[in-house]
Amino acid sequence: MSLLKKWARVRSPWLLHFNTGGCNGCDIELVAALTPRFDVERFGILLEGSPRHADILAVTGPVTLQVKDRLVRIYEQMPEPKYVIAIGSCACSGAPFKDCYNVLGGVDKILPVDAYVPGCPPKPEAIIDGIVKLIKKIKEGK
Ligand code: SF4
Repeated sequence: MSLLKKWARVRSPWLLHFNTGGCNGCDIELVAALTPRFDVERFGILLEGSPRHADILAVTGPVTLQVKDRLVRIYEQMPEPKYVIAIGSCACSGAPFKDCYNVLGGVDKILPVDAYVPGCPPKPEAIIDGIVKLIKKIKEGK
């Protein structure tokens, strides 16, 4: 990755949010984290609507059979280098939905996950902490 690209990515990571079948609890907390109250823009984090412009895929919910292909398609549309953060216990491991007939498990069953934020749901502070830790990893080239 060129130095300029890395500099820009670390200072202004664009985030794409995708719910793979959760209860919406994590989505509410993620949306709260993106509001001016928590002001994630101070870290340059911006919510992005298109996978083609996103650096980080923020996934909430367990991966269901119904959504698996869409999740992979969205991930494939993101430009390299791309990162995935699993938000909430469902996205980390499948949590209460694990072993359901229509649930494959956590996001790492389908995609490489770079950061995990457990909790049911995790607070906005924990989500911000997870994203900032991921940014640090990107900065250090891990
Ligand atoms: S971790 Fe909890 S709040 Fe988040 S989607 Fe799963 S059940 Fe809902």
